[in-house]
Amino acid sequence: MSTRHPSYWDKDVEPAPPSGELAKEVDVLIIGAGFMGRWLAYFLRGRDVQVVERDGFGYGASSRNAGFLTCGQISEMLSDVASAGFDRVIDTFLERRQGIAIARREFPELEVDPCGSFDYDPITEQGRELMGRLNAAADERVYSLKQATLGGRSRETYFNAADGGVHPVQLMRELQRATPDARFAFGVNALTVARGEAELDIAGRRVCIRYNRAFICTNAFAPELFGSSEVVPGRGQVIVTSPVATDTTRALGYLNQGYDYFRFVDGRLLIGGGRNRFPAETGTSELRPTAHVKQWLEQQAEVVLGHRDWTTEYHWAGVMGFPCGGHLGGSPRRKVDPQTEVVAGFGGMGVALTPLYAQRIAAEM
Ligand SMILES: Cc1cc2nc3c(=O)[nH]c(=O)nc-3n(C[C@H](O)[C@H](O)[C@H](O)COP(=O)(O)OP(=O)(O)OC[C@H]3O[C@@H](n4cnc5c(N)ncnc54)[C@H](O)[C@@H]3O)c2cc1C
Repeated sequence: MSTRHPSYWDKDVEPAPPSGELAKEVDVLIIGAGFMGRWLAYFLRGRDVQVVERDGFGYGASSRNAGFLTCGQISEMLSDVASAGFDRVIDTFLERRQGIAIARREFPELEVDPCGSFDYDPITEQGRELMGRLNAAADERVYSLKQATLGGRSRETYFNAADGGVHPVQLMRELQRATPDARFAFGVNALTVARGEAELDIAGRRVCIRYNRAFICTNAFAPELFGSSEVVPGRGQVIVTSPVATDTTRALGYLNQGYDYFRFVDGRLLIGGGRNRFPAETGTSELRPTAHVKQWLEQQAEVVLGHRDWTTEYHWAGVMGFPCGGHLGGSPRRKVDPQTEVVAGFGGMGVALTPLYAQRIAAEM
């Protein structure tokens, strides 16, 4: 693998050394130790579970995202309504709420910044209607209109009271800590996984392992194992500034239909996005950040903060997986054969959705 670029979250992670011997046979084999693989191992506690991860910790989207624990924002959902319809958008909103509730219930001690989220796109009639429908579906006033300040200007925004921010690597660590009976093996690259047998590469050594059930939780990298996985990679990039002074509302924030998003972490601005601006930079699973997107994010940071009195201290890329290439393009679950399933492609929603999918799969077994 090429140079490893740290994120703000995983900069202090000590990658585990490559694994030694693995059992020749396991009940459940999980490929990939991102949120999906870790939540699944967590819900399969008590079974014979082997997780294999090619990195020394997890090197995909889970340790490199923005850490928004969100059930969705209005402007992005409005464009989803246009492509997928109201029912699909409302179902996904409810699924995200369920996933968040599971994460909060299973890890009540997890630090969550309960700041809510503000969507700074213009308020429209369609937006008001969608807020009403979502609140009715949730049977709770999740969305309302509220004043917020952006770059020195106060304005009315769509406000989501239920949203918050997490430290994604803290959650990944908690998940592994709470799953002591699952075996995690790092530095193990799965080469083939099908019909009860997987071929693995451990530091240049080829080994085979037999399994009853396997779950391929490799997200944007799923096409490397299954060309026909239907998951399309979408690289996202993020910067984190030096500590900043600003009167901008210190909560989760969305701009440009949610393509750009920000929050405040340790007194710094974290801002990500630019995927719609630079389509040629996104359709890759390469975890290398690029100068064009950095420049765009710095311009957006100036809009958010209202000044340029800061420097960029971190810049990284992470890769989302989109089922059939779309935000709500299809299901992340796909059966490969009776024993093998791909569970990959949560787009920009995996922090909220993976606990729900893992719980469902565990309940079916
Ligand atoms: C920049 C960015 C910002 C985001 N912000 C948010 C957000 O704020 N809120 C939200 O809900 N979602 C967000 N997301 C999406 C979210 O991070 C993902 O949906 C989620 O992390 C997906 O988890 P996963 O376990 O499916 O995949 P990943 O975390 O990508 O895990 C896949 C793992 O599989 C491993 N792997 C791959 N191939 C192999 C192989 N052959 N053998 C062994 N191991 C392998 C990889 O090393 C990796 O660790 C964001 C994503 C990005 C990129």
